[in-house]
Amino acid sequence: MSHKAKKHLGQNFLQSQTIVEQIVETAEVTNKDRILEIGPGLGILTEELAKKAAHTTAIEIDQDLIPGLKNNPALARVEIINEDALQFTPPKTGKYKIVANIPYYITSPLITHFLTTENPPVSTTLLIQKEVAEKIVTDPPESILALQIQLYAEPTLAFLVPAKHFNPKPKVDSAVIHLETLQKNARTKNPEKILKLAKQAFSQKRKKLSNTLRDYKPQLTKLDLQDKRPQHLTIKDWEQLANNIK
Ligand code: SAM
Repeated sequence: MSHKAKKHLGQNFLQSQTIVEQIVETAEVTNKDRILEIGPGLGILTEELAKKAAHTTAIEIDQDLIPGLKNNPALARVEIINEDALQFTPPKTGKYKIVANIPYYITSPLITHFLTTENPPVSTTLLIQKEVAEKIVTDPPESILALQIQLYAEPTLAFLVPAKHFNPKPKVDSAVIHLETLQKNARTKNPEKILKLAKQAFSQKRKKLSNTLRDYKPQLTKLDLQDKRPQHLTIKDWEQLANNIK
């Protein structure tokens, strides 16, 4: 079936079987795994997941792609769901892994949607824009997205994927990141409180915290953070700050 790629849905389809295999290896998919794929597209990654995993569920927003996926004999065992992944309720129990090549603009909402649920995935392996991948692994976290992810997971940048491996070719290169979800409360008991403070501070990231978090000057001074900018705080610093604020 011929399909005209929809730009507004971030449709850049992978063309390389080698890259597909590398993604599945990075995710360490075994025949015991339940996989959730977001955005199967034309099904190149889905076919490999169907071969390697015990069960695969693939959620695709574009209804024009559904018949091609449902009629593909290589995907006979795959559950295909026509839904927006951001509205999809993840499994309430049991372990599962997310493996996906997603449009970069859903990176942040998608990670929030799945990592903050009662039953988050054990790991998330994503092919995303290279620049975003590099931002996510910064230590200390240099952006709200990096912090948001690192409060819930350990991210690693697995490998780069040049633009030539997609059709249509995106303007920028991509990369695969792997997020190992941490045990609940492993990093902090206060992720929501930290994120509330961090959002306020990162909204004017060039300013010192004594400016952006004015209401908490005594706590910032106590921790010697008053002259720092949000991108210089480690997760431990954020944790201490949140713990000192009622
Ligand atoms: N997995 C395929 C591949 O590697 O060739 C397609 C990847 S393409 C970058 C992203 C896919 O995600 C497209 O098929 C697009 O229609 C789908 N998509 C975009 N937004 C989505 C959403 N909110 N929920 C589910 N799928 C979405």
